[in-house]
Amino acid sequence: MTVTQTIGNSHQPGNEAAGFAGLAARVAAGHRITAAEALAILDTPDAQTLELVAAAGTLRRAHFANTVKVNYLVNLKSGLCPEDCTYCSQRLGSKAEILKYTWLKPDEAVHQAGLGIAGGASRVCMVASGKGPSNRDVDRVATMIEQIKEEHPQVEVCACLGILKEGQAQRLRQAGTDAYNHNLNTAESLYPEICSTHTYQERVDTVGAAKDAGLSPCSGLIVGMGESPEQVVEAVFALRELDADSIPVNFLMPFDGTPLAGTWHLTPMACLRILALVRMACPATELRMAGGREMHLRSLQSTALAVANSLFLGDYLTSEGQDARRDLEMISDAGYVVLGQEDIDPAELAARLRHRSDAAPAPVEAPACGTGCGSGCGSAAQGCGPMGGSGEPVLRRRGAGTPESPNA
Ligand code: SF4
Repeated sequence: MTVTQTIGNSHQPGNEAAGFAGLAARVAAGHRITAAEALAILDTPDAQTLELVAAAGTLRRAHFANTVKVNYLVNLKSGLCPEDCTYCSQRLGSKAEILKYTWLKPDEAVHQAGLGIAGGASRVCMVASGKGPSNRDVDRVATMIEQIKEEHPQVEVCACLGILKEGQAQRLRQAGTDAYNHNLNTAESLYPEICSTHTYQERVDTVGAAKDAGLSPCSGLIVGMGESPEQVVEAVFALRELDADSIPVNFLMPFDGTPLAGTWHLTPMACLRILALVRMACPATELRMAGGREMHLRSLQSTALAVANSLFLGDYLTSEGQDARRDLEMISDAGYVVLGQEDIDPAELAARLRHRSDAAPAPVEAPACGTGCGSGCGSAAQGCGPMGGSGEPVLRRRGAGTPESPNA
């Protein structure tokens, strides 16, 4: 079945309810997309993908107008994980030369969160590696969160600590935690190939426990791990059933030293189709373009904002992201406004962005990367970061766990 056969052609007179625009209109009226429609979305030819994005974008605009929610990650504990998630640079046996450190001190964690908030984040995500926290770990994070909420009561705090045990979600909620993230990551049918040390069901149960404790559930995906289109649909429909408030879509960053090193299945257009699928399936849910957006969406990151209404600012847990100033410029250049800054005069926002650029240290002359690409090949050389090409993820060497200023 072609896209036109499944979804119809709205260009035919009298057939306005068909096509991507017609599908979006039916979704807006309460239609839940079917598996056939979802597969047709993923099968959209490149030449029609921007039409799909425009249609899905009407749902994004209806629910989130032109706002972009900016989130900021603080890696509280890096590496040293006993679990074996194949995609993860922090996994058991990972040879990736990531930063490894145990729990940040509470003051350091609160300081790092504050830097992200100063950069425009309206949510900070406090993340720790591991299968799940001990009660002592939960107390430690609860203390940090109480302090963040005291200093920044307007900011949402999300915790991401792995699989939760009885009573832990309640403890986090009592400390003022707003949300809990635990990704389903992929389809249940693929899960045994992705991880052998915990189950898909444990992930589902943790999201349920967070929700039951009054935490806003956040759960999403990693795409590009070799899943079939049917498995992408299976995972997206599972997230729809989970009814999370926010869905981060990560694009696999294939770290050297992990089992998925060298895995490149995505194109920028394929990433747009996946984001459009999530928007069509979950029209009113916060959709975040998350880790790996720079290397997989590349120059189409701002196009993706037509369907995604949320992103992470700056760096990720173990790798560098796009320069935070470029993130903010990208949002502004594409006609969006950071959530929480809607009432600020655009001229004032432009002046602030200019000030950030002026205040930033002068870029260091980029050493030759050896490829002669000249424009972002993904080597670790400054100026040749993850924004460009399909090179290795650039390992994070700044921010939490280092003496260097973060990318915020
Ligand atoms: S995803 Fe989490 S549980 Fe899995 S290896 Fe990485 S840090 Fe450990």
